[in-house]
Amino acid sequence: MSERLLRGSGVSPGMAVGPAVVVRWTMPEVPHRIVPRSQVEGEVRRLRAAVRDITRHLAELKERAEDRAGVDEARIFDAQILMLEDEVFLGGVEDLIRENHLTAEKAFEYKALEVRDAWSAVGSPMLSERLADLTGVTIRVVQHLMHVGADDIWGSVPARSVVVARELTPGLTVQLDRDYVVGLISEQGTRTSHAAILAHSIGIPAVFGVPDAVERIAAGTVVVVDGARGTVLLEPTADELAEAQVREASRLEFERQLEAALDQPPLTSDGHRIALRGNVDLPDEIGSAQRHGAEGVGLLRTEFLITGHSRLPSEDEQSAYFQRVGLAFRGHPIVVRTFDLGGDKFPAAFRAPTEPNPFLGWRAIRVCLDQEDMFRTQIRAALRAAARTQIHLMIPLVTRLDEVERTRELVMDEGQRLAREGIEAAPTVPVGVMIETPAAAILADRLAAVSDFLSVGTNDLTQYTLVVDRGNARLADRFTPHDPSVLRLLRMVADAARAAGKPASVCGEMASEPLPAVLLIGLGYDALSVAPPALPLLRWLVRHVSLERARAAAEEALAAHSAAEVLAVAHRALAELIDLRLLADNVPGCPEIEPGVA
Ligand code: PEP
Ligand code: MG
Repeated sequence: MSERLLRGSGVSPGMAVGPAVVVRWTMPEVPHRIVPRSQVEGEVRRLRAAVRDITRHLAELKERAEDRAGVDEARIFDAQILMLEDEVFLGGVEDLIRENHLTAEKAFEYKALEVRDAWSAVGSPMLSERLADLTGVTIRVVQHLMHVGADDIWGSVPARSVVVARELTPGLTVQLDRDYVVGLISEQGTRTSHAAILAHSIGIPAVFGVPDAVERIAAGTVVVVDGARGTVLLEPTADELAEAQVREASRLEFERQLEAALDQPPLTSDGHRIALRGNVDLPDEIGSAQRHGAEGVGLLRTEFLITGHSRLPSEDEQSAYFQRVGLAFRGHPIVVRTFDLGGDKFPAAFRAPTEPNPFLGWRAIRVCLDQEDMFRTQIRAALRAAARTQIHLMIPLVTRLDEVERTRELVMDEGQRLAREGIEAAPTVPVGVMIETPAAAILADRLAAVSDFLSVGTNDLTQYTLVVDRGNARLADRFTPHDPSVLRLLRMVADAARAAGKPASVCGEMASEPLPAVLLIGLGYDALSVAPPALPLLRWLVRHVSLERARAAAEEALAAHSAAEVLAVAHRALAELIDLRLLADNVPGCPEIEPGVA
């Protein structure tokens, strides 16, 4: 059995059975050819024409993705289109052609390799996702320049087969027909890969990150793809095939349950309300948050207003955006996070200093307080939008009381000024503190006294407490937001907020994982804000959890010796409330929830 069972990450749930087809979409061998001086400008023109053609083609694929996967998912193609519109990159390719008399395809390949090396050296997950886009764009442009067919590989795939590849790009995935390709297996990629996101939206079960899949799965072998558990079973027996069918039926039933939960209030089984809000990074996610039942926005990230732009956003632009979000969630709060610049967010409009350690550097509220004009503009925009909507302001990466006090002064000041100017605006807005540093957690009682609410950003709080870079894949096993040390801080924050009579919420990724979410509820957090697609499962979970049991689990978890023990505690609690197989079988990335693990 073990040789027949391959393991990877489940990235798109569902069971698929079919014969394997191996597809190869790789970089063609580009010959090293020097062109005569007289042809150099011709190569530059050829480059420009190819870039134009591919940009047009990507725009078509984007439209196709909008129809098939949704507007949010189609945005994935923007990253590739932007690469082809990047004049610094294209200028670099032209320089290689002109200075070294290379062909357009060789120069493009070299430049892409140079960028790949530079991005790989940074080692951030955000950039590693962009690496897959870079590969996709490079293969496309080079194949086009060499007149090698790029997109016709699907023509040769027989009906109802399972595709096996080294790497699947979004461009290839969005063209898949669910009737033709029933499952996907890839050696590369993770749950956050763009191809994985598209496979999920189109509804094709997929397992990525399967080592040596192309070598180990011979063409024509019948395989069973389990897109939740992340397994691939080769040559299944009749019994195994029957089991796969049962599993698929149970998954469809689970999906129906999640959908049904969206029409029911997010009350625990013993009747306590947990507010479930959405984290919105980009305007396109507003619709997704609405569809997934968000009761407002618990974290409205605003960095996109700056990054990728050559100038700072105006007061009118920001105010219009905040108002638009507010009107989309009438009657619910919209928590606007003030610019969280620096660290992993690189603003183009801003000459940010190169720092040896940017995560401990000039970032977030530090930047805003130093750049007072920029900060005042954002505050005024929030106050204006708050005239008609429930806008709150939230300050990231706070470490000191005076950061909150100064922000409040600026809010008061701008509120008064807007009134003097006769501009329609709220006189003030609730100002909250993001608890993302050990300093803020330790000072939570004092911070609660000078603010209107606290919201824990567990991504940064974990990073700074455990001294584990949140983007370092090598340390991924150590990035455990449910570590006993982080839980203690979470407890301190919840207690401080309760004592001060101020609301406390969590808006980091931790809240979207079933086991840790139970502990957060037990610690006393009655508002959770997560990425919109995570909302249906969270709502379903809340409705199955009793506050009383969650509290007992949190108490027990606080006494645990290790992160693994904490998970085991949450696992035991959840096992009393629901059939854990439902999660293990149906939710990609829930292997720790395997029944009997604890
Ligand atoms: C966090 O740090 O947990 C958080 C929600 O903020 P971001 O992920 O944007 O840093
Ligand atoms: Mg943060």
